[in-house]
Amino acid sequence: MNKLYKLHEDVETRVNAIRDSQSDWLCRQGCDGCCRRLAEVPKITAKEWDLLQEGLSALPPEQLMEISQKVAELAVQVSRPIVCPMLDRANGACLVYAQRLVACRTFGFYVQRELGLYCKDIETRVTDGALAEVVWGNHDIIDRRLRDLGESRDLTEWFAGWKGTLIEIPVSTYQSGSL
Ligand code: SF4
Ligand code: SF4
Repeated sequence: MNKLYKLHEDVETRVNAIRDSQSDWLCRQGCDGCCRRLAEVPKITAKEWDLLQEGLSALPPEQLMEISQKVAELAVQVSRPIVCPMLDRANGACLVYAQRLVACRTFGFYVQRELGLYCKDIETRVTDGALAEVVWGNHDIIDRRLRDLGESRDLTEWFAGWKGTLIEIPVSTYQSGSL
């Protein structure tokens, strides 16, 4: 099994353990706050981009064109937060769910030493004491494993060099962080 799939599998194990211990977990299709409030343009490792291209290539051409257009707008957008260009905004669903990034899989289930939890909705329940029993995943370990998956670039930069899109994507000039 390659390193990315092994990482997916390990994340899924943690996510399932949390879900099993909390039957009313907030994350479900249609709850798309995390996809609508990205702090920065997603950073993607080479292996994740390879997988993401498969998902993008399988979309109907008009849908891919729409995503490419949104990515092009994102490359010059300076305001934050941003909406993920791969979100189906009408249905609150990810258009590349099977190929989504590791950060999308860990969101809401993993904590980072410096940043804590990413999802504010779940954080509210933590503050209430409702999730005292949850054993969170450690995102610092995920970051370490991501560094093993090839170079990391902004989504906009990967798109700019991709022959699969017919739209010219400007290369961003600003600094960006992680999801
Ligand atoms: S991480 Fe938060 S916003 Fe995202 S699906 Fe889960 S509960 Fe909803
Ligand atoms: S890739 Fe999918 S799951 Fe990840 S932020 Fe975008 S829409 Fe959400």
